[in-house]
Amino acid sequence: MIKKNLSDVGSDRLRGRTVIVRADLNVPVDSGSITDDQRIRASLPTLRTLTEAGARVILLSHLGRPNGRVAPAYSLAPVAERLNELLESPVRFVPHTDGRAASGSLEFLGEGEIALLENTRFEAGETANDPELASSWAELGDLFVNDAFGTAHRAHASTAGLASAIRASGGEAVAGLLMAKELEFLEEALRLPERPFVAIIGGAKISSKIGVVSALLPRVDRLLIGGAMANTFFRAMGLDTGESLIEEDSIEVAAQLLEEGGDRLVLPLDCIVTSEISETARRRVVERTDVQGEDKILDIGPRTRDLFADLVSRAKTIVWNGPMGVFEIDAFAEGTVLIAEAVAAACDGGALGILGGGDSAAAAERADVVDRLTHVSTGGGASLELLAGADLPGVHALTDRSA
Ligand code: ADP
Ligand code: MG
Repeated sequence: MIKKNLSDVGSDRLRGRTVIVRADLNVPVDSGSITDDQRIRASLPTLRTLTEAGARVILLSHLGRPNGRVAPAYSLAPVAERLNELLESPVRFVPHTDGRAASGSLEFLGEGEIALLENTRFEAGETANDPELASSWAELGDLFVNDAFGTAHRAHASTAGLASAIRASGGEAVAGLLMAKELEFLEEALRLPERPFVAIIGGAKISSKIGVVSALLPRVDRLLIGGAMANTFFRAMGLDTGESLIEEDSIEVAAQLLEEGGDRLVLPLDCIVTSEISETARRRVVERTDVQGEDKILDIGPRTRDLFADLVSRAKTIVWNGPMGVFEIDAFAEGTVLIAEAVAAACDGGALGILGGGDSAAAAERADVVDRLTHVSTGGGASLELLAGADLPGVHALTDRSA
């Protein structure tokens, strides 16, 4: 079901209205200063749309994992400051989280102004999806905009809980512009993909990605496996992986996927191995059948790079999640950089190319291809679950477009 989003709410209906926004402002903070403000910037289109239309905005977000307790190191105060620098409209910081505690400070909020409440995870009820906490926010207004795609796969009080509470009291809950863009690209890619449809799955979190592999496998023309993911499949094929990173618990399901996938599942042919993970390590290129002893597989090999790049170059739809190797170290970044180049080139040629995953996004940044990709998802876990076909609680709770 398609959900209502902020563009479906006319700007004439926003002037003077109090709108509660849940954004994902979970940025890295190091002794009070923000080291990367990408997530703050990603939330600006929704905030600008609301302030320019003259809404009064009450903004919620979590930051880090304070585990339900007030912890000054996780305060959103520095985020309010950065928002003030980035936005034309004034942003006030309200050092309360619970809606009733904050309400006194919100009385004087003017049209086009934003009040950022303190970290939602300072309340134990946030991750427990406490309905009382959700109601405390729902009572502040009658329109809820959920723009926090990164946490849409969790049912928390400020996401799914707040959407349900506001709708129960006759209000509306809609997707923010960032959330709407994420849903459009990720769902669109899967609904009617232009073929050939190629997925590339790599990275290290094997058990959390196996679900995506099995959901995508019947839909794609080719599913390329790289990174540490591949090692577990090698073991399922009966190959020696030396001292490479693998997940014993996933070997059996990898074996099943190999059987189901047949030719559609493409594993690396060769690998770059070393006995120590360092920039100056002695590297060797070996066939996947020749890994042994103290070898650690840290990247895909040159024959694999060519094979993967060739398959990607012919694709019309590409979904990529997870680096091909330990790209943080130059000596093992070649595979990932080459795949990033190949996906970007395919997009230049008109293919739809979608990248998900925090580390993958960093890899694309490093390969300097971000601007050439169709869409880089901001939500790691959420985009994976969406690709695996899951119904995200934060999205599910929103108002349907037809309603
Ligand atoms: P994403 O955040 O894009 O979803 P993951 O978190 O699953 O990706 O995995 C990223 C991590 O995987 C990177 O830190 C990278 O160093 C690591 N990695 C990739 N290939 C290997 C490998 N062969 N051995 C060990 N670690 C690997
Ligand atoms: Mg990661």
